[in-house]
Amino acid sequence: MSEKIIYRLDDEISFRKCSLFEEDSTSRGDCTNFYTKEVHFHDHYFCKQEGLHFHCTKHPEIELECDPDFGGSVLTCPKCRNQIEIGNIKSLISRCLRALNREIFKDATLIRVDDWYTPEIKEKINPAPDYRLITNVKTDKDGDTIVVLYISYVGTGTKVQYFIKPEKGQLTSDHKDMDPAKIISKIEVTLKDRTLTQAYHEDADDKF
Ligand SMILES: [Zn+2]
Ligand SMILES: [Zn+2]
Repeated sequence: MSEKIIYRLDDEISFRKCSLFEEDSTSRGDCTNFYTKEVHFHDHYFCKQEGLHFHCTKHPEIELECDPDFGGSVLTCPKCRNQIEIGNIKSLISRCLRALNREIFKDATLIRVDDWYTPEIKEKINPAPDYRLITNVKTDKDGDTIVVLYISYVGTGTKVQYFIKPEKGQLTSDHKDMDPAKIISKIEVTLKDRTLTQAYHEDADDKF
């Protein structure tokens, strides 16, 4: 049996996921409000409240009861008789799902897709001691974005310069600079509707 978890929503309401959260089953598990439906000649159990059950925060082991006198808008703890006005069960379920999402998404990677071309993207990053990457963002004469990407060997002064134009879907390099194959094997730019790739194989003997 997996560890039981009760989530505290507020001072009055806590909740738990029942065995039928996210999946039906041939047994009811710890669900206390279910219906059955025949699937492939077997009775399957489905939770009537999206797999979420509400418990008294003061008595977390006790499941709150829906008071029929109030048409499902009041939950009562059978032990302390605390009556909790919840509006409707659907909105309470949504509140619990949002609380669960906070747990799921708390360490999520944030990718900025709204204003990635603003000047603050300008940065220097050093992926390896011998290389330097510098990005700069400008606009061309048509007002479209140009991301300029400089890749250089530290201390040599030689560099490869790429121009990425997201709106135009272009990836070009400056031919006056060093041959890109001297320092990189592949560059890949992912745009919203296509991926631009340039691969270089300077020397077949290279051990990549
Ligand atoms: Zn249930
Ligand atoms: Zn209670």
